[in-house]
Amino acid sequence: MTKALIIGGGIAGPVTAMALQKAGIESVVYEAYPHGADDVGAFLALFANGMDVLRTLEADQPVLDCSFAAERSEAYDKTGRFLGQGNMGGSHGVGPRTLSRAQLYRVLRDEAIRRGLRIEYGKRLITATSAAGGGVVAAFDDGSESEGELLIGADGAHSTVRGLIDAAAPQAQYTGNTMVCGYTRHSPVPTEPATYRIVYGRRVAFVYITDPDGQTWWFTNIPGPQRGNSEDGVTAAEYWQQQAIDCVAGDNTPAAEFIRSTDNVVAVTAYHLPKLPAWHTRNMIVVGDAAHAAIPQAGHGASMAMEDSVVLAQCLRDLPTIETAFAAYDRLRRPRVARAMVTSARMSKAATPAGRIPGLLRDHVLLKLLKGRTANTADWLTDHHIDWAAPVSVANHWHR
Ligand SMILES: Cc1cc2nc3c(=O)[nH]c(=O)nc-3n(C[C@H](O)[C@H](O)[C@H](O)COP(=O)(O)OP(=O)(O)OC[C@H]3O[C@@H](n4cnc5c(N)ncnc54)[C@H](O)[C@@H]3O)c2cc1C
Repeated sequence: MTKALIIGGGIAGPVTAMALQKAGIESVVYEAYPHGADDVGAFLALFANGMDVLRTLEADQPVLDCSFAAERSEAYDKTGRFLGQGNMGGSHGVGPRTLSRAQLYRVLRDEAIRRGLRIEYGKRLITATSAAGGGVVAAFDDGSESEGELLIGADGAHSTVRGLIDAAAPQAQYTGNTMVCGYTRHSPVPTEPATYRIVYGRRVAFVYITDPDGQTWWFTNIPGPQRGNSEDGVTAAEYWQQQAIDCVAGDNTPAAEFIRSTDNVVAVTAYHLPKLPAWHTRNMIVVGDAAHAAIPQAGHGASMAMEDSVVLAQCLRDLPTIETAFAAYDRLRRPRVARAMVTSARMSKAATPAGRIPGLLRDHVLLKLLKGRTANTADWLTDHHIDWAAPVSVANHWHR
């Protein structure tokens, strides 16, 4: 019998499998899509804490190879006035790595397979029931079943496992924003290497960075009601490109030109999860977005999912029973995850101020905070290090 059944082959799935392997625990990953859920086009930033987890698992090199570095952020207001700059790397100075989501999924999957881990595709979990011997039986939409001692839901914001743990668990909710992003080789302004520029416009914040090959990667979060993919025959890409242009119209910044010069914009609907009362039962648990999908403004969801993976593996490695391991994981992760979610929600509010006065207030605060100095971004978030060798015990998991 396989020890752990991991549902979801996105980010938390393969990383959990690698962490469990390091802890000497066998697992199999089951992914719903036939070839992984490589969603086309969108990109993300992996901060120092996420890269630190990958380094612990000796899985950082493949990510370094297909990403590029950022060290600083610069903030501008809607008139193009420079507000100040921040050090994106926290006190260690290691900034985020930017890469496409599809690349991240791919390299994590390839690395897991290279280590001899099993990932089975085309296996959408439908339900899970208790096995006679105390384990758990997972049932998939192709009619197959697998039995394990425990089941880990790494199945994202719309998790099935979450509903199996608690039928009354909240569903992921639309954040009120659609992230629109794109890539362009045309730059209306000179760009600065390894620098994220955040332009706080009248309605939205526009963020861009230019990679070492001279291509600019940009995104903006557009507030409004949730929209489907097709609008009156207009392709989704055209619709969202126009929405993005409309949102930055009137700002005296290069945003509109970046957006106009982009061939194919990508829109991603962003969801978040209200606080989940239960992360686990006796033998089922959720990690990553399945447990705590955050408003994505802080760009930390993937890193937090990776942290979950390693902490869960440590708990299962060190504690005598699955139940005590799950309880320890819950207590170790909840406070940090909650704080990250609050931070991200605050950042989202600041990026899309509801009206002129809140916008002016935000720019004023930023100017005061940043002018004339380099500010470190939330060090507690990016500087977090998980010591793999440190044992988790029933006594110490309360205050680690
Ligand atoms: C617009 C946007 C921008 C973001 N930007 C960033 C960023 O810059 N930096 C960052 O760190 N994070 C960012 N995030 C958050 C990040 O993408 C998530 O936190 C991260 O993907 C969570 O990883 P996960 O493995 O938990 O879930 P996912 O990556 O969603 O993976 C879940 C996997 O489970 C599979 N699955 C689902 N249901 C089933 C089932 N029933 N059976 C089997 N498999 C199933 C899915 O197909 C998928 O492969 C962003 C999110 C959004 C929406």
